[in-house]
Amino acid sequence: MAFVNAMSPCYGCKRIFSYNPTRVPSLTIDGVKEPFCQNCINRANPVRIANGLPPIIPVTGAYEPCDESELDFSCGELLEPPILIPSPREQLRRAIVKYANAEVALAMSEKANILKADAQWREVNRLLELLVRE
Ligand SMILES: [Zn+2]
Repeated sequence: MAFVNAMSPCYGCKRIFSYNPTRVPSLTIDGVKEPFCQNCINRANPVRIANGLPPIIPVTGAYEPCDESELDFSCGELLEPPILIPSPREQLRRAIVKYANAEVALAMSEKANILKADAQWREVNRLLELLVRE
């Protein structure tokens, strides 16, 4: 089970607040659903009532984390990220970055880090061979 806590500026007061993206009171402005915080709702309600409009009463949990089951997964195929296998060159670049990091760790002279640096170095060599063969 997972929860989603949306966080963004309130459209009214621009303060960052957290909310349930499916329940928060909102207005669609230029096709974008803009959320409103509780303070802005509290400020707006007396004006609405004075103008003969019903007050906005946020639904239960509007400002609480949203259970994953509430989210719309109708675009499921888009949620599956494509499996990207980095090119050997990119793998090598990453390995070198990792190795450089391991080298820093090596300088700290901890036995575990020396072993890690050694493993990284072997990985760099393996990738170098791979590049040569390509
Ligand atoms: Zn606000």
